[in-house]
Amino acid sequence: MPAYDDSDFDLPLLSPVQAQKDSSTMHANGNGLSVENGNGAIEIPATRSSMSEAAKYMHNLSATPSMRDRRSSRNSFGTALPIPRAKKHSRLSSVHPRSGSPPLRELLASQAQAVNPQLVEKAKNMAFAFDIDGVLVHGDRLIPEGCRALEILNGDNELGIKIPHIFLTNGSGKIETDRCAQLSKILRNPVSTDQFIQSHTPMSALSEYYRTVLVVGGEGYRCREVAEQYGFHNIVVPNDIIAWDPTIAPYRVFTDEERATSRPRDFTKICIEAIMVFSDSRDYATDMQIIMDLLRSKGGRLGTVAEDPVAERIPIYFSQGDLLCPTEHPTPRMSQGAFRIGLEAMYKALTGADLERVVYGKPELATYKYADEILTSWMQELHGEEKLPQNIYMIGDNPASDIIGGNEYGWNTCLVRTGVFQGGDNDENNPANFGVFPTVLDAVKKALRNELGPEFKVFFDEKINPVLHGTAADAAVVI
Ligand SMILES: [Mg+2]
Repeated sequence: MPAYDDSDFDLPLLSPVQAQKDSSTMHANGNGLSVENGNGAIEIPATRSSMSEAAKYMHNLSATPSMRDRRSSRNSFGTALPIPRAKKHSRLSSVHPRSGSPPLRELLASQAQAVNPQLVEKAKNMAFAFDIDGVLVHGDRLIPEGCRALEILNGDNELGIKIPHIFLTNGSGKIETDRCAQLSKILRNPVSTDQFIQSHTPMSALSEYYRTVLVVGGEGYRCREVAEQYGFHNIVVPNDIIAWDPTIAPYRVFTDEERATSRPRDFTKICIEAIMVFSDSRDYATDMQIIMDLLRSKGGRLGTVAEDPVAERIPIYFSQGDLLCPTEHPTPRMSQGAFRIGLEAMYKALTGADLERVVYGKPELATYKYADEILTSWMQELHGEEKLPQNIYMIGDNPASDIIGGNEYGWNTCLVRTGVFQGGDNDENNPANFGVFPTVLDAVKKALRNELGPEFKVFFDEKINPVLHGTAADAAVVI
């Protein structure tokens, strides 16, 4: 952005006489306000530019939130992002019978696979990563094609084979077990926590680095539960701080119930080691005030102000960077990215320094590296083979996170029309490299046929038993 000088905006103002002419409406005309047929309003020349002052306070990377011009990370300071090691499954777990699959069907499937070893190898060398909202569901509502797509990958295909797939979402605010239980119900297909990554899931690794953290965002105390689950020892949420000193958030109406459920402590005696924004803030004014107090404090101790804002500053992490998110409202609502940009500008205005921060979630590299870990371990769970499939298909509805992230990571990317993307042939800035599809089902079928051949059948026919109906040679293989 060019630096603007106030003189650039010394625009001619209407005289009061001009302003009293014509109709009774007042509107912005691009050069200031004009008042028509007013009752003698006087216009006083502005002493400040009418242009927003935000640009000079913005973080360089946040000033251009589109990722078109910068194909790298939003994390500008070379910060390392720790990710957890995925749980390794014992080989025993992979031979346990799967729930929901009748033994006969398992037997028939293993026979179908035994006569097509090359196809099986190909099926084990591909995988899917699904975005959830706008692809498989809209909020709590199922997108019907999503259910069918998952049935195919869970074994309703020619080989009766499970094709590995994970769920990779920038969603947040619930513990993984709860969210997976809810999704399993909505999708009518099992969703295991071992194949599920939400925006803050990789942040569980940070519990090895910090003991006392401020956790921000989400409904009620749910994100405190998430942090507990991740192994953080001493979790502070904004309500704990308001209960200790209500004057810290002068405009907050603090209810008796909130007071009763909070955990006030003497925060002058506690050093908060890091700030974790796990989910969308429910109260920007309060959360921003508390975060700013902590960022400017001496090493995370409330009630202090650091002389050097940078040297004693505690780190801040955001679980994802989306500027907007679609909701039931006709136009998308602001999300964590907007909250972060606000904080960055405030911080720079107050201290003169850039706010170093770390962002997880799609399209950040750390999240994709973690997806590799999860896929490898899920392959072990499904097929007893601890390896990463080579041909991975990301299916998403948002070019700015799902598609750009997948493209950068060397995945095949499929853009669907059931969510954020409503454009033409493909997205102009971040085109999906495998194509644009009406629904997730179309994308899954095309990907399967791309890897397994155009004739690959996306249903399992129990009547076609390779032992009973195949050739004698085929039967000999499996007996
Ligand atoms: Mg989405």
